[in-house]
Formats: sequence, C-alpha cells, structure tokens
Amino acid sequence: MQPLFMEPVFQEKIWGGTRLNTVFGFDLPNDHIGEDWAISGHPHGVSMIKNGAYQGKTLDELWKNHKELFGNPHEEVFPLLVKILDAEDDLSVQVHPDDAYGLKHEGELGKTECWYVIDAKPGSEIVYGHSAQTREELAKMIEEERWDDLLVRVPVKKGDFFYVPSGTIHAIGKGILILETQQSSDTTYRVYDYDRKDAEGNTRELHIQQSIEVTTVPARKPEISISEVRKGNSAIITYLKTDFFNVYEWQIKGHVSFDKKAPYTLATVIEGYGELIVNGESYELELGTSFILPNQIKTWEIQGALRIIASDPGMK
Ligand code: ZN
Repeated sequence: MQPLFMEPVFQEKIWGGTRLNTVFGFDLPNDHIGEDWAISGHPHGVSMIKNGAYQGKTLDELWKNHKELFGNPHEEVFPLLVKILDAEDDLSVQVHPDDAYGLKHEGELGKTECWYVIDAKPGSEIVYGHSAQTREELAKMIEEERWDDLLVRVPVKKGDFFYVPSGTIHAIGKGILILETQQSSDTTYRVYDYDRKDAEGNTRELHIQQSIEVTTVPARKPEISISEVRKGNSAIITYLKTDFFNVYEWQIKGHVSFDKKAPYTLATVIEGYGELIVNGESYELELGTSFILPNQIKTWEIQGALRIIASDPGMK
C-alpha cells in the first residue's frame, strides 16, 4: 500500500494573491488565487490522486468505493478538508453553522475549523469573536453597522494556532498565509464584506439572518491546550483534539518513526524538504506536498528538515 498524494485544487477569490506561487512554488492560473484545496473530497473542489494504484481517481470516489482505505467509516462524505489560504486582502467577516443547522438548512455538514499561521506580514490581524452579550444586541449592532464595537480583533504572527468552532464570528486579515483544517463544508454566512465591489461593481451576498441565528452569543473563547513530545531534534506538537479532527505539527530535523493513531492521517508540508518512507519505499516531500496515509499503512518514517501540519479524524 502506498500513501495517496494529492493534486492541488486552486480557487480564485476576490481577496486572493500570488503567495501560493511565490512561497509554495505552485503554477497558478492567475494572480487572485485565495485557496489551495490541498486535501478535499468536497464537490466544490475535489482532490485527485497523483500516484500508485489509484492515480487519476478522486478522493470522493475512493471514499465511496474503497472504504477499506479509511478503516470502513460510516460517514457518507470524506469529513475533512485541508486548505492553504493566501489572504492578499481581508476575507469577509463570517460565521459557519454547526452540523445540525448545516444539515437542516444547507444539506451539508457544519464547519468547525482551525488555522495554523504559516506566515503573517507585520501588523496582520484577524477578527476572532464579538462583544454582543445577547442575540438582540448582536442583531442591533449588525443592523447599525457598529463593526468597530462589535468585532474583536487579535494580532497574529507566524506560528500562531487558532481554533474556530462553528458559531464563531471570524475573518482572516490581509497579509496572512494559513493552513486551515476544517470539516468538509463550504457553507459560509457572510456578516460584513467591507462594502467591497468586484470588477463588475457588484457586492457579495450577505447572510445576516443566518449569521444572527448561528452565532454563539455571548462569544466563548475556545480553549486549546497545546502539548509537545520531543523525539531527538524533532518534535510532535498536538494543537487540538476535537470531535471532528485532531491536528498536529510534525517538526522534523533528522529522522522520526511514526505509528498510526487513527484510521487515516492527512499531512501537508508547510516548510522545508525531506522524504517519507513507507514499507522501504521513499517518496519526496517538498513544500506544498499533501498526502493521506491510508488505514493499511501502520508505520512510516519521515526524514529531512521540514515541518508538516497533520490531522486525523481520531478513533471513532
Ligand atoms: Zn471560515
């Protein structure tokens, strides 16, 4: 059994830029690429397998027809989505529903997400939470467009990690390059878009009513407890364990052996260069490489000088 390497899927966005080319070396179709859907089974941009027996197949096909690769899960769709986002400009202020609301109103999962900051220009900040104490107050402040009072802004720097559960009002600010691990959902309720217009003079749709309904009020600052295990010069950092996914950073300097901890593991190289070794075979890992270690791969090794953000669905 080989690891499954993914072809990137690029998404053009009004706020996107060129760092997926200048930092990651991807060939981009234009200068406004906001997102690489690095590992995705979502119909709005599904990953294709680049290598091995499943070359040319899509991740959603494998999920449907080769459930053994994922430990025979019960979920109907591949539940995780990994993206790299380049915010050349501010993203809209937004909120995502939870599973119950998402399934009822949108026919798909809700979206809990988390961000690892790969890079951030000086002065970069995010919107992360709000100040309203009641739903009525939230509605009133939105209606009166009191954005400075309502929105909580937080400065960010390279290496920061943020947990963004469904119901959290948030926005990624300009200058930030992040890796996002999220539930596989494309449902976004836009609260505020800075009154921006596209090339045709159109504003993007807002979803005020849904936003007010799904926002957690008052805002709760999500708790995270980060832990680190040293392995020689390398470190395995656990950022998050939730019902939806666990997220780790593998900081490799030299050589590290891994034992599988979940039915399958997702990984994206965010810095450096090295190799992945599975069953005595070696695979090159370069910046932006994304792969899944399927259920049949019980152990693997990584060597080189590189950093990887990894995730898994936990033991269900
Ligand atoms: Zn979001």
